[in-house]
Parts: sequence; structure tokens; C-alpha cells
Amino acid sequence: MRAVADSVSFDNTAIAFAHLKDKDLERAFRVYQLINIRPLTWLGTRLTPWAIRMGLPVKSLVRSTLFQVFCGGETLQACSYVIDRLSKYGVYTVLDYGVEAKQDEEEFDRTLANILEAIRFAGQRRHVPFVSVKVTGICRFALLEKLHQRHSLSASEQQQWQRAQERLAQICTLAQQQRVGVMLDAEESWIQNPIDELADLLMQRFNRSEAVVLNTFQLYRHDRLAFLHDSFERAQRGGYLLGAKLVRGAYMEKERRRAKRLGYASPIQPDKKACDRDFNEAVRFCIERLSSIFLCLASHNEESNMLAVRLTQQYRMPPDHPHLLFSQLYGMSDNITFNLAHAGFRASKYVPYGPVQEVIPYLMRRAQENTSVGGMTSRELLLLRRERQRRKTQAHGTVS
Ligand SMILES: Cc1cc2nc3c(=O)[nH]c(=O)nc-3n(C[C@H](O)[C@H](O)[C@H](O)COP(=O)(O)OP(=O)(O)OC[C@H]3O[C@@H](n4cnc5c(N)ncnc54)[C@H](O)[C@@H]3O)c2cc1C
Repeated sequence: MRAVADSVSFDNTAIAFAHLKDKDLERAFRVYQLINIRPLTWLGTRLTPWAIRMGLPVKSLVRSTLFQVFCGGETLQACSYVIDRLSKYGVYTVLDYGVEAKQDEEEFDRTLANILEAIRFAGQRRHVPFVSVKVTGICRFALLEKLHQRHSLSASEQQQWQRAQERLAQICTLAQQQRVGVMLDAEESWIQNPIDELADLLMQRFNRSEAVVLNTFQLYRHDRLAFLHDSFERAQRGGYLLGAKLVRGAYMEKERRRAKRLGYASPIQPDKKACDRDFNEAVRFCIERLSSIFLCLASHNEESNMLAVRLTQQYRMPPDHPHLLFSQLYGMSDNITFNLAHAGFRASKYVPYGPVQEVIPYLMRRAQENTSVGGMTSRELLLLRRERQRRKTQAHGTVS
């Protein structure tokens, strides 16, 4: 039987890593040890993309290290092993076709075909409730930028935009048929308005009785809490469910650099404290309205996840409320995901998949964000080390 929500702790490494066999734990430990070395990660993240482009034989090295820890596989079928292993511990999978921004219509159609295939695949599996979609995977970045600035489009650009909207409608229609949800990722602030407008239209069309479409709210932006409130009001007026994935945001440095370079006020919060305050306020806002909002809490922050746990307890909600899903990236924060699932919450992993050379940018970002800051060992490495030690002690205890 599942533990009750009262006893959730993110420190239990036995639960956090039960899904990893000793050899997988060892691999994760070694990989985290390597990426914790700042100069090595600095060099590696610069050289690897270049080496892949030059056709140097680094693919197998990446495949047996970073890829194994952070990705589900190169194909959907190859992800089955990971999906089954997660589901054994009550953890859901959000499929994330990890191929990044493309440029031409043919590539967009290929990405579309892959996403549709992922939806059909998810439709056959109870433990894959969502797929994630990056709009820049099916529409040109520069076109989104133009739409964001409300510049007029040429005839051919209008056609491209029409086609992009059709792709999204196709994705959501199939998702609804297959009873799978679609999470629209949030991207750079200077292309986000058309994505938000599209998300509203899609939610209006598809979220009548269930949350098929989720938009993403980046609370590192100082205007997003107000935007969340407005989105909720629109959903109420329009009679549909608001699908809200809450994140802090992935492009902080890039946003600040661009704002400085072009001389406009940065859209990013003044500091981390302000970002945390708005994120936690957004969590509270959504949980207090769970009958009208589907919330995906997408964060590795232990305090924010624990806040959600406490709020469900305070409001006497069942931990497995159908409108509440927690999510962390595959290979990260297992202490949060697996302890939540163990306590009966609906917890999931974002599982990226795709050919090794295509997911390199994603892998490089994971390496960078997990490297040591100011010489400090990352939280991941500390937890993995503790679990290795625990297993060793247990093994010795059993022998003697
Ligand atoms: C399942 C999942 C899906 C995601 N999808 C998206 C997505 O669609 N779009 C997207 O942009 N990101 C996405 N992310 C990444 C996310 O936005 C964060 O970058 C990442 O999760 C780190 O934030 P955190 O809440 O986990 O934890 P924390 O470690 O507590 O927060 C780190 C984050 O805080 C913010 N921050 C740090 N310092 C400052 C500062 N000085 N001032 C203001 N803010 C600061 C930054 O956003 C930084 O990434 C996703 C993450 C997950 C787990």
C-alpha cells in the first residue's frame, strides 16, 4: 500500500533511486561526478557539438554517458524500457521529442509526423498521459518573432503561419482522440505572444471537459503571475479548463543579454527571491482553483514541490487529484519524483528521446546546469553518493 501524503520527504534516497540497479546508479554517479568538474564541462559543452558536426567518433561516448542518464532512447520503441521501469514505481512519462528548432517546412512536417507518432504511442500506454511540443519545432523562429512584434506578414509568411496553426490543430485533434494531453513549452519572451495566443485558442477549442492543452508560464518573468491570473479569467469567461504548466524559466542569461544589448527593460525578475515568490504564489493560485485549472508543477525546487504537497493537505485534497501532476526532467531530482509517487501523488518525468546528434543541445544544457557552482557539489551528486553508501552499508550488513 502507498504511504500517506503526511510522510513525504525528499531525503529518502532508498525510494528515490529504487528504480536504478547498482550499475545504473554507478553510471549516474560517474556522469554527475564528471559534469560537476566545471572546466571539463565548460570544454566538453563547447567541443562536443563541434566534434559531432565534424563526424568525429564521440557519439558512442555521449550515448553511453549523458544520453543514458538524461534520455529515454533514440526511438519511441527504445523508450519503452524506461517508461515501464518508471511506471513500476508509479511514475508517469511525458514524452518529449528532443529535436530542437528547425528551419524549413519539410523539417517541420517531419517533426509533426514524429509528434503524431508519439501521441499514438502514448495513447496505447496508461502511464504516458502527455507529450510536450515546442512550437519552434513546427514553425520558424523568425516568423514567430515577426508575429510577436505585430509586423505585417508577406503572402508566403501568411501561408507558413496558416500551416503552423494547422499542424498544431492536427496535434491537438489526435491527442484528444487518443486521450493524451499536449504541453506547449514556453520559449524566448520575444516570440512568446503568438504562442500564448495560439495556446488560448487551442484551450478554448479542446479543453471543454478535459485538459488536452497546457500552456507554460515562466515565473522568472515579472509579468507572468498577472498573465496567469488573466489567462484564468479568460478561461472562466470562455467556459474552458485552464491548462497551466508552471516553470521558473530556462533562458534567463539569454533574456538579460538581449535586453541589455537592445536597450529595453529586462523581462526577468530582479532576483531569485522575486522569482521564487511569484512561482510559489502561482502554485498557490492554481491549487486553490484545481476544479477549473489543470496544474503541472514542473520544477526541481524542493520547497515549491513541498509547498504543493502541504497545500493539498491543507485543503484536504486527495494526493492523486486528477488535475495535479508533478514533473521533473528524466535523470534529475529523482528524490522529488519518486518520493512524491511513493506518497500517492501523480508524479512524472519529462523523457526526451531522439537521435543522439539531435539531442546534443539538450544534453549540453543539462551538463551546464548540473555543474558545480562556486565549487559546491551539486545536490544530485550528494544524493547519489549517499545512496551508494547506503547500499554498500546494507550489503555489508547482510553479509556479516
Ligand atoms: C518538466 C519540466 C519542464 C520544463 N519546461 C520548460 C519550458 O517549457 N520552458 C522553460 O523556459 N523552461 C522549462 N523548464 C526549465 C525550468 O524553467 C527551469 O529552468 C528549471 O526547472 C530550473 O528551475 P527550478 O524551478 O527547477 O529550480 P530552481 O533551481 O529553484 O530555480 C532555478 C531557476 O530560477 C530562476 N532564477 C535563478 N536565478 C535567478 C535570478 N537571479 N533572478 C531571477 N530568476 C532566477 C531561473 O529560471 C533558474 O532556471 C522545464 C523544467 C521541467 C522540470
